[in-house]
Amino acid sequence: MIPLIALTGIYIHIPFCAQRCTYCDFYFVTTASSHASFVEALCKEIRIRAAAYASADPVGTIYFGGGTPSLLHPDDLGRIIATLNEHFDCSRVEETTIEVNPENVTSDYLAALRALGIDRLSIGIQSFFEDDLRFMNRVHDADRARSVVQSVRDSGYDNFSIDLIFGLPEQPPEYWSANLEIAASMDVPHVSTYGLTIEDGTPLKNKVARGLVEAASDEDMNDQFRFTIDYLRERDYEHYEISSFAKPGYRAVHNHRYWSHSNYIGFGPSAHSFWWTGTPALRWANVRNLRQYQALLTQHVAPVDENERLSMDALADEYILLRLRTADGLHLEELESRYGVDLLVERVDELADLEASGFIQPIRNQTVRLTDLGKTVCDTVTARLLPG
Ligand code: SF4
Repeated sequence: MIPLIALTGIYIHIPFCAQRCTYCDFYFVTTASSHASFVEALCKEIRIRAAAYASADPVGTIYFGGGTPSLLHPDDLGRIIATLNEHFDCSRVEETTIEVNPENVTSDYLAALRALGIDRLSIGIQSFFEDDLRFMNRVHDADRARSVVQSVRDSGYDNFSIDLIFGLPEQPPEYWSANLEIAASMDVPHVSTYGLTIEDGTPLKNKVARGLVEAASDEDMNDQFRFTIDYLRERDYEHYEISSFAKPGYRAVHNHRYWSHSNYIGFGPSAHSFWWTGTPALRWANVRNLRQYQALLTQHVAPVDENERLSMDALADEYILLRLRTADGLHLEELESRYGVDLLVERVDELADLEASGFIQPIRNQTVRLTDLGKTVCDTVTARLLPG
């Protein structure tokens, strides 16, 4: 049993944000923490992990996520990249992505990113409308949301993605269609769309609980999702994963590793890793606390909070879940040869019923793919196909 793609993905979590967006449950801090001491700790973590993992597969992709990675000075990003190059084989890196927020993007900053070899941007626009941005407590305004794409292009970036969120409470429906229209009119090569989820522990959850705002209904969310699929498809975007739409040639390579059960190592507080070169496969999660993260690394201790050994059953479940989200679909022979699960035996009735109900396409080339209707209930379809 070996991973499908013998290249490692590297994820770097930068845990700084200027302020808290109302819906966010990622790990970040808004206090004025020292970037220098964080980068020092992060580089130490890279060195510690390299001792165990660098001799395995070369690195295929690097992804800076957060938090807000674009709050880091290019010199700090350069130090991290140099440390990766020093300790891992980065000669085969095919994509280096950084998440940027519109308010941080200047032509000098973008030029510095390009000089570092960062060749893909993921821009946290979320909406082109001022009301939405204020509701979400984003730092940037609507003017900046609309001008950042041109700034990015002027700096020579043609490979970039924007994030947009639908299903905001009380958002006029025409805002969402207008958001998509603006993105398409600017010929943005990759759009990630997320239905707003009301996560525990967020200011938004608190507001909903107090009755100050009302969450969008499931029906409205589904309508907007279906509209998104149709609208972007008509404009030549490939809907290649539930949340991801790309013009030909602009699929995200790094994310493909997650959906293929390929190895990846996450650095930084709260980062997750997945490593499967023998049995069992391993998953670990770093501590979700910047101070603790740095303190552990000062003591030369790997900053791990949770370690998990994944059974083949757990891996099979996860693989079904991941693959059904993709347009490439779930390949049944691969599922059997790699995970020992024959869905045509174990779930033959469910497969027939899901097809008859219009949730999955007729199986072709041993591959199960969701229909557009199935995409709106992806989790339910997945639950019906999990073996055991
Ligand atoms: S900028 Fe991103 S990570 Fe930071 S609070 Fe907002 S959504 Fe969360």
